[in-house]
Amino acid sequence: MSSLELYDTRSRSVNSFVPLKKGEVSIYLCGATVQAPPHIGHIRSGVNFDILRRWLTKSGYNVTFIRNVTDIDDKILQKSVTEKMPWWALAQKYERTFSQAYESLNVLPPTYEPRATGHITQMIDLMATLIQRGAAYAPGNGDVYLEVRKLTSYLTLSRQKLDDLLPADDAEEKFKKDPRDFALWKGAKAGEPSWPTPWGPGRPGWHLECSAMAHAYLGESFDIHGGGLDLIFPHHENEIAQSESAGYGFARSWMHNAWVTTSGEKMSKSLGNSLQVTELLKHVRGIELRWYLGSAHYRSMLEFSPAALEESATSFRRIESFLHRATEIIGHIPTPKYSKAFADAMNNDLAVPQGLALIAESLRLGNSAITAEDKKTIENSANEIRGALEVLGCDPFDPSFGLSQSGDLTAALDGTIQLALAQRAAARDRKDFAASDAIRDGLSALGITIEDTPQGPRWSVSHTEER
Ligand SMILES: [Zn+2]
Repeated sequence: MSSLELYDTRSRSVNSFVPLKKGEVSIYLCGATVQAPPHIGHIRSGVNFDILRRWLTKSGYNVTFIRNVTDIDDKILQKSVTEKMPWWALAQKYERTFSQAYESLNVLPPTYEPRATGHITQMIDLMATLIQRGAAYAPGNGDVYLEVRKLTSYLTLSRQKLDDLLPADDAEEKFKKDPRDFALWKGAKAGEPSWPTPWGPGRPGWHLECSAMAHAYLGESFDIHGGGLDLIFPHHENEIAQSESAGYGFARSWMHNAWVTTSGEKMSKSLGNSLQVTELLKHVRGIELRWYLGSAHYRSMLEFSPAALEESATSFRRIESFLHRATEIIGHIPTPKYSKAFADAMNNDLAVPQGLALIAESLRLGNSAITAEDKKTIENSANEIRGALEVLGCDPFDPSFGLSQSGDLTAALDGTIQLALAQRAAARDRKDFAASDAIRDGLSALGITIEDTPQGPRWSVSHTEER
């Protein structure tokens, strides 16, 4: 099997992945600012990095995955005014909507999910280090700024020139040595929450938290820092500035997922609620939405349209229906075993589209094998498909999607349905059609559709609008 190669945004090159510690991978992913319910642009990042994490785990690594929650920020404070609730209640409310969305899409929970407000002590320590090293200053108004002119590696991620940069619009310029200096900390304002520091009460600027929390959980250096493309500047540049000025090695490689676009542009607020995860889950199942969001290469834009989502969901249902059919024919749930070609695709900077082409090919072979009654090929194809789907977090036998969970439970469900189907066949044989219809209708009420085929009845879990 080939070894993993990943694209690094900072060097703009695909490199062989070598972790800091043998057998271990540490990842920090910038999570949500919890000020509104998630739309699919937010969740795409979660899905893309969940695929990375699952692939690393499958490849034998022990992965530590940190994804933060930004629960204090300008937007949260503004929203708390318009939604007439305390900022902390608002943040918690939307944090829950994010957690639910991640769960509906089978995004594994992070190893730890630190909140900014829980790490004020670490942020103060980091600022003290930066001031002591001469990289940051507190002009006495309660703010603390990072002095960007002093940095040697500033803007090496976004490849910009300092002189081309606009002033950082995060605080009043009159206290800054250079208008491009950015705020680590913002002095207290009336009506806003604040925490005490040696430089006066205030609250964190956005960037500081990620440097402080990455350090707290992953140490001075770690393997991969991730986030959406839009975070490269200023957020990730500023994280690098803070952490490297503190003397930390920080992230050894950077991965950025592209956006979900509509009409070629980054998803905008003008589309309203239609792209919220909860809205889309009224039309497709979580597993189908995940399949769709994960289908493009993580560095490629994903152009959203309802028709594209529906088409993607339909192709997923074809794969799923083959797996259920194969299960009936081979008499057990397929064993997940992805092919070497699939592993090569994933090792090639997570080339999911290549992986999907391989799944399509296995599906074609598997369906032909059903016609030819070639049980061995059916089983092989089903195993390969299930193995690939498992890596992509889209295994239909994964109980996380609300079916059953463990293989045992899935088998028990199948057994129960087979039992009902046998009763139905017996009722038909004795011409008791009332009884056979009652069994079919009862299963249908549970969302289980029965289809009579020349090979016997087959069942599937139907898609319902109520999800
Ligand atoms: Zn961050």
